[in-house]
Amino acid sequence: MPRPLPDDLLKLPHRRDVPFAKLTTLGVGGTCRWLFEPTTEGEVQSFVRACVREGLPYKVLGGGSNLVVLDDIEIPVLRLALPKEVIREGTRLSAPASYGHIRLSQDAAKAGLAGLEFAAGIPGTTGGALRMNAGAYGRELVDVLQTFRFLTPEGELVEKRPEPGEFRYRWSFLTGGHVALGYTVALAEGDAEAIAATVAVNMEKRGTSQPLSKRNAGCIFKNPTGSSAGRLIDQAGLKGFRIGDAEVSPEHANFLVNHGHATAAEFAELMATVREKVRAVHGVELEPEVEIWR
Ligand SMILES: Cc1cc2nc3c(=O)[nH]c(=O)nc-3n(C[C@H](O)[C@H](O)[C@H](O)COP(=O)(O)OP(=O)(O)OC[C@H]3O[C@@H](n4cnc5c(N)ncnc54)[C@H](O)[C@@H]3O)c2cc1C
Repeated sequence: MPRPLPDDLLKLPHRRDVPFAKLTTLGVGGTCRWLFEPTTEGEVQSFVRACVREGLPYKVLGGGSNLVVLDDIEIPVLRLALPKEVIREGTRLSAPASYGHIRLSQDAAKAGLAGLEFAAGIPGTTGGALRMNAGAYGRELVDVLQTFRFLTPEGELVEKRPEPGEFRYRWSFLTGGHVALGYTVALAEGDAEAIAATVAVNMEKRGTSQPLSKRNAGCIFKNPTGSSAGRLIDQAGLKGFRIGDAEVSPEHANFLVNHGHATAAEFAELMATVREKVRAVHGVELEPEVEIWR
């Protein structure tokens, strides 16, 4: 039986019993029992400090575009709802962690600032992008990151420049209770038309290779060293393999899609089947790229 939450935590903006289907791009999962949505950095800090004091674990949610949630989540979930303000200073843009990552890349393009074109088709929030060091086409967030702000798991506010070892392929150290609050990217003056053209080419590539009309969580498995997870899954004969409403996309085998009413159990079974078949056919152990909450 989960224990009751302290009064000071319950004074912060929150909702009860929100289905993860509404909080994730894949649209499956159980129920989020406690969804905390602080609107100021002070409230975020109060949340973290109350959890630390109570010894209460919590999870941090962004746009839910890299998540497969398999069960109800009984511990508090923190989803920032900071004011959607972007500040421009010269060629630098600063955004809060709850700002849309695609929107920031569009803001940069409209302002004729080059450097975030790679981010145009990566859904989710800037906080999620920072945590995941999101990237595409050989570029990743850390390439343009100038400074970032976060709370430590103890609730201490830190603002710093990135240092070696803090960010690598689809990973940053901002795990285990760290909360990203925002960041500043250093871009370059560019030609708005040329930037828009690069974005259009990138989006066209995604539109033709990814099943964007169906709910999904992006690439489900990491590419094993020197190989492609999508190719291995395809060669194992799994394109179009379906369990209930969960399917290995016929367009891109590393995308598992929800045809509308897929359940978490169907996704868990589909992921397990894909791993088993790829292990049997290729002798390769696929590791999830998405984060799994249970
Ligand atoms: C169609 C599609 C295409 C995609 N293409 C790409 C791609 O090309 N490249 C790529 O890198 N990714 C891609 N992704 C995956 C995903 O969009 C990125 O990983 C994204 O950056 C996740 O952001 P989010 O806000 O949705 O994070 P979530 O999915 O909500 O969370 C992901 C992780 O970040 C943590 N997190 C979220 N916010 C914070 C915060 N404020 N502080 C600390 N931790 C936080 C969560 O705890 C979790 O560990 C794609 C996904 C989809 C659906």
